[in-house]
Amino acid sequence: MIVKQIWTANAYRNFNYLIACSETGEALAIDPLDHEKCLKLAKDEGWNITQILNTHEHRDHTGGNEPMVRKTGAKILAHKNAKDKIPDIARGLGAGDIIKVGKTVTLEALDTPGHTMSHICLLSHTDQPTLFCGDTLFNAGAGNCHNGGHPAELYRTFSEQLAKLAPSTLVYPGHDYIENNLRFTLDREPDNKDAREMLDKLSGQDPNRAYVSTLEVERQINTFFRLISPTVIAKLREAFPALPEQPDQRTVFLKLRELRNKW
Ligand SMILES: [Zn+2]
Repeated sequence: MIVKQIWTANAYRNFNYLIACSETGEALAIDPLDHEKCLKLAKDEGWNITQILNTHEHRDHTGGNEPMVRKTGAKILAHKNAKDKIPDIARGLGAGDIIKVGKTVTLEALDTPGHTMSHICLLSHTDQPTLFCGDTLFNAGAGNCHNGGHPAELYRTFSEQLAKLAPSTLVYPGHDYIENNLRFTLDREPDNKDAREMLDKLSGQDPNRAYVSTLEVERQINTFFRLISPTVIAKLREAFPALPEQPDQRTVFLKLRELRNKW
């Protein structure tokens, strides 16, 4: 499996992806908003884009579909419940569905509601798993729930699915938000040395060569995985004095999501 992360350099800081089979040159494009960059890279590599996967229905993820289908004839794949929101879906996906790219690439669809209620993440079946997580999980952050999402569902996705994936899993999100997210982690957990060191290291990084984290790293630097940290809980009580002494993880997650909206 060959993975190319494509920095769009747009105001929303989107990342697009191409996943290619090294034997056949067939490729799948994830959220190819910058269809021109994606098509140029595919051409340079000698790849043939046969499938488009939309992680969810937001326009900054689907906006490249039409021109890319016109130029490649690629089939559009998305969550089966996104049929009314994304035009011309050829294959509606549910949890556990398998997507083949060429002969060598196998991807599994995860049904991951929260950012929207029809959001798909892809998990590769490779020795080191790779997670393409759209706007569900970001480096050092979590998706917002403003436009068709539900914070409680996002928590369930984190706790019941993402938290159970292998620590070595590579994380490929839909946007480059790492710097800002690390600042939020440090706002909530000022003594988080890993987040501090990473912010120092990555400040002003070139998103064309972006740092790629793993879930093991996310567990150290991502507030939304640090729900039992004594500092996180103590700081949260400053904002929410009625918080119980031993708050459950769901409560901590929801309060953090609420604070992140205002931050
Ligand atoms: Zn979105």
